[in-house]
Parts: sequence; C-alpha cells; structure tokens
Amino acid sequence: MKNYKPLLPPSTIGVLGSGQLGRMLAIAARHMGYRIHVLSPDSNSPTGQIADKEYNAAYDDLDAIREFARGVDVVTYEFENVPAETAAACEEFSPLRPGAHLLHVAQNRLREKTFFADNNLPVAPFVEVSSLESLIVVMEKIGLPAVLKTATSGYDGKGQVLIPNDQLSIVNCQLVAENAWNAINDQPAILEAFVEFEREVSVVAARGLDGSFVHYGLIENDHANHILDVSVAPAIVPPAVEQQAEEIMRCILEKLEVVGVLCVEFFLTANNQLLLNEMAPRPHNSGHLTVDACVTSQFEQQLRAICGLPLGDPSYHRPAAMANLLGEHLIAPDFRGFKNLESLLTNPAIKLHLYGKKEARPGRKMGHLTALATTAMEAAIIVREAREELIRDA
Ligand code: AMP
Repeated sequence: MKNYKPLLPPSTIGVLGSGQLGRMLAIAARHMGYRIHVLSPDSNSPTGQIADKEYNAAYDDLDAIREFARGVDVVTYEFENVPAETAAACEEFSPLRPGAHLLHVAQNRLREKTFFADNNLPVAPFVEVSSLESLIVVMEKIGLPAVLKTATSGYDGKGQVLIPNDQLSIVNCQLVAENAWNAINDQPAILEAFVEFEREVSVVAARGLDGSFVHYGLIENDHANHILDVSVAPAIVPPAVEQQAEEIMRCILEKLEVVGVLCVEFFLTANNQLLLNEMAPRPHNSGHLTVDACVTSQFEQQLRAICGLPLGDPSYHRPAAMANLLGEHLIAPDFRGFKNLESLLTNPAIKLHLYGKKEARPGRKMGHLTALATTAMEAAIIVREAREELIRDA
C-alpha cells in the first residue's frame, strides 16, 4: 500500500465502471487538473471518452485489475456491484474509496436493510426470503400488499415484484407466491411491506477523510416506469424532516466510515414519516442537478473526498430541476438523435448534458437537462417543458 497524503493534481484517479457517473467524475477531475484512468469491459465508453487511459477488461480479470490499480493513486467506482476479489486486488496497490466494507453492505439489500434496522434507522418491515416455502410463511408475517425484491442486482425496479392485496384463499396464496418467486428467478430475496408513500426524496451526502460531512438537502424525485424521471431541489418539507434526514445521513456515513459520496433514497409518507428505501455508495442520478446548481457538484465532492482534500461548499446558487433523457426520447427506429435539439439549444434556461453513449435503448439513460429558477417548482416546469419541446413532433 502506498503512503497516503492528500492527493493533489496531477495525481491519477482510477475509476471502476465507465458510464455517465464516471464520466461526470472524470470531467470534474479534468477541470481540476487530475488524471483519470478507467476500467470496464467497454471501449469508447462515456467515461473512456474523457479519461487519459481506458482499460478494457472484465471486472473479474484480476491481472488487469492489478495493472490498473498499480497505475493510479486512488481507486473509486461508479457502480456498487464491484466483486469483493476485485476490491481486494485494487487495495493491494492503492486506497479504495469508499472502502470494501461499504461495498459489501450496499450490494445486498438484506445486508443493507439489516444495517439500517440494527442502527434504529426507520425502514419498512422486511424479512429475508430464501425459498418458495419461506415466501409463503413470510407473506403471512409481513402482510399484503408487499414487494418481493432480489437481494442483489436490483436497480430501476428490476428484480422486484409487487404482490397485491387480493383476498387470497390458501390455494391462491400458493399460486401468487409461486408466480412472484418465479418472476425473480428463484433468487435470495427480501419481502418488504408496501409503503403508501406520498413522495420519494433522496439525500446526497459526502464524508471526507478527516470525518467532515456535507449534504445537499432533500431532493424530490418523480419516477416513471420505476426509472428516475425528474428531480427537484430543494424539496419542500417541514424542518423536522430535514433535520431527521440529516441525522440519518450522518449516522450512515459515520457508521460505515464512508470516504466519498453516498445517496439514500427515502419514502416520505403523508404524515411526514421518512422511511429508508435504499442507498448508493456513489454519486446518484438525483444529484446530477448539483453540477449546474451548486458551488461544488456531487462529482467534485467525490473527487475531493477520495483525494483527502477538504470537502467543497454544497450550497445551491438557485433552486433547480433535472429531467432525464432516456433512449425512448430519441427518434425511432435508429435512436440516433432528438427531434428538436436545435430548438432546445435556443432556450437560455436549459443546460444540456449528453453522455456520449453509442447505442440507445428504451430506459437507457442518455443524458439530462437542468434548469435553475427562482423556485424549485418553476425550475421543474421549465425543465419538463423543455423536454416536451425536445421530443415533440415538428
Ligand atoms: P427500488 O429498486 O427498491 O428503489 O424500487 C424502485 C421503485 O419501486 C421505488 O422508487 C418505489 O417507487 C417502488 N417501491 C420499492 N419498494 C417499495 C415499497 N416497499 N413500497 C412501495 N413502493 C416501493
């Protein structure tokens, strides 16, 4: 392991994963004069297009991982499913930030929810499900409706099934359980009580090597088809909710000794109860608006934390909103471009971000738009209208 002291430019940052999160980290790093190396199985990737060096290798190719880690001063990642052996191989040569323990917790819903519950953080009731038989028992215990979620590899609503609250006879109950269990392919899972939430909110926070802590307040998120659609900040919530969210974030980042950025998604109920849904040990889609709206973006914050620099000022210049651009927003059938990009670019209120992905697919995140305004609600209207205009038939 190399001796550690704050990494100043032009140190080299290593990123595992090469999507838009790595790309925006790479842009922040380049701004400040750092060098960027990226490793992923893909070539000419969104991050690779910005990086100084792109390694193309599988995440379990430990020889390639070691060569990559040998050439950088610190390693970070832009997705949580980094295999444990890969994390360990990186750590032979460079610090891995945030560390392997956080990865271990965050890449498994059961471990994650158990960590929340063990620390008295508010979560919906959940129980481990390891077989069809246990699902039937647990359905009784949790009650219906409930959501069956695979313990690993679930994102954007993948790997989860809603079990509705039909009046189930014993025979029906068996059938419903079988269908749900088959739908998640017989994988270790949790069954979680369905939450009648009013809104979904998230908090992006960062913790430095010195234990310092900053956060970007509550961001309100609208999803469409289980994929984030629009984020708005600041979310309008009572001060007590803001305070509780801050305390929860502090607790999580401290307990898990995070050095980097971490996002938690919450459900907010009609009586202002916050319930933790899940966490991501990295910058998050809901924090993309910080790039245009804040003194220090979530990506510069990640860079500062992993380099051992003081954290930056997270203050907002103005309220902001972000709308995702997905594959289906491009023109079918080849999905190569948007209908009205030129017209969008005449709108002075809109900041355009495209991720340089070669191929579009429905549901794939291709870019986003950000708008700042006097109020968050106004910013949301501007950004939604701009996206409508972008995809409108001429
Ligand atoms: P997740 O992959 O766990 O973030 O879930 C994706 C989306 O499914 C969430 O953003 C919610 O809209 C919905 N969802 C997940 N879990 C629950 C739950 N326990 N109750 C109600 N809705 C849920």
